[in-house]
Amino acid sequence: MLKGKTAIVTGGSRGIGRAIALKLAKEGANVAILYCGSEEKAKETVQEAATFGVTANCYRCDVASEEDCKTTIEQMIAHFGSVDILVNNAGITRDMLMLQMKEEDFTTVLDTNLKGAYHMIRYCYRPFMKQKHGKIINITSVSGIMGNAGQTNYSASKAGLIGLTKSVAKELAGRNICCNAVAPGFVETEMTEQFKDRPEVIDNIPAKRMGKPEEVAALVAFLADDCSDYITGEVIRIDGGLAM
Ligand code: NAP
Repeated sequence: MLKGKTAIVTGGSRGIGRAIALKLAKEGANVAILYCGSEEKAKETVQEAATFGVTANCYRCDVASEEDCKTTIEQMIAHFGSVDILVNNAGITRDMLMLQMKEEDFTTVLDTNLKGAYHMIRYCYRPFMKQKHGKIINITSVSGIMGNAGQTNYSASKAGLIGLTKSVAKELAGRNICCNAVAPGFVETEMTEQFKDRPEVIDNIPAKRMGKPEEVAALVAFLADDCSDYITGEVIRIDGGLAM
């Protein structure tokens, strides 16, 4: 149970982030839902989270902007009183072969997926240290473990997130702060819409299906709970066996 805890979920407006915000709320956590472009969807997620009897609020925060992250964390702490759980979920793809990939395609993905997590962790660092507890969960990808043709930018960002996770875990383990990564394979969201009807994609997954956002959310809720306090610096795949 996460009763009395407060969680931040970046990219909580849609897809996996939305499922995570709702699961944490169902487990009793108050939730700050961060969005970038999808204000209406973020507000819907807030309304649905509030049906679990918790406090929920949404904030516009482009995680690629250090100023946005700093201001948002200050605002949400002022509103909720504390922060206990940080889920770095916001992420984008700009898939293309390396030859076609312009520098902007590379840096935009790195700035959102990797630097975004860095900003968010940096501004939660002091509150976590002060209260001597905290849970950081970074949503990486099997692409960051295996690499993937057409995803040099995305794979690099997600591999970087794994390095960030392990280093932060080592810095903060002695303070009762855990930092772990969750690495999904194909999960049914708008990001993977184009793959869901492709038999060659499904055939390649040992479980012969895509994952559901709620399955990722259940794993995140476990890592957010005190019962997993002895797990840190870990990367847990949730991919139906894809990266085995
Ligand atoms: P999605 O449906 O495309 O949703 C992406 C989310 O990220 C949205 O809530 C979006 O918010 C937010 N976002 C994008 N850019 C942002 C920014 N600059 N600042 C703040 N928020 C931003 O994607 P998803 O499938 O749920 O993916 C969620 C995470 O899981 C990502 O990190 C992704 O890389 C990872 N992942 C997904 C899969 C998969 O198969 N789906 C597999 C492995 C890993 P707005 O709409 O408000 O802009």
